[in-house]
Amino acid sequence: MKQRCFYCSNPATLLCDFRLGLPFGERLRHIDGTEYDVTTIDKPAHTCNMPLCREHAEYRGWLHVNAGKNSHFDSYDYCPEHQGMVDTGAPVMQESEAERLRRVVVANAQRRLMRERGAVRSPPPPPEQGKLF
Ligand SMILES: [Zn+2]
Ligand SMILES: [Zn+2]
Repeated sequence: MKQRCFYCSNPATLLCDFRLGLPFGERLRHIDGTEYDVTTIDKPAHTCNMPLCREHAEYRGWLHVNAGKNSHFDSYDYCPEHQGMVDTGAPVMQESEAERLRRVVVANAQRRLMRERGAVRSPPPPPEQGKLF
C-alpha cells in the first residue's frame, strides 16, 4: 500500500526526521537515589515519522545513515509542524512516550489543515466551459 502525504494527496516519499526523543537505554541511579534514563546507540532515535511529499517537507540537508555495509546518505526532512525547529537536546524516552508525542503532532497537523481549509471561504468557481467559444 502506498502511503499518502499527511497534508495532501501526493504519495509520501519522505518521513519527518525530527527527533522527538532519544532511545531509552537503561535507568541509572544517582548516589542520592534519584533515577535518570540514559540513551543507547543500539536503537534508532524516536523520530516524528509524519508521511510527507517533497512539497510538504522542509529540506534540512543530508544525513549519513550508519548501517554497516548498507551505510548511505539520506535526505533529512522536517514536516510543517517541525519546520525551523532544532532537535538537539531531545530527552531520553520510552517508545510509549514517543507514540504519545507523535499523536500530539498529528493533532496539531490536523488543526493546521482545518485552519487552511477554513481560510478558503468558498471553493473557487468552476471554470466556465462555454466562455472560450
Ligand atoms: Zn504533501
Ligand atoms: Zn515532524
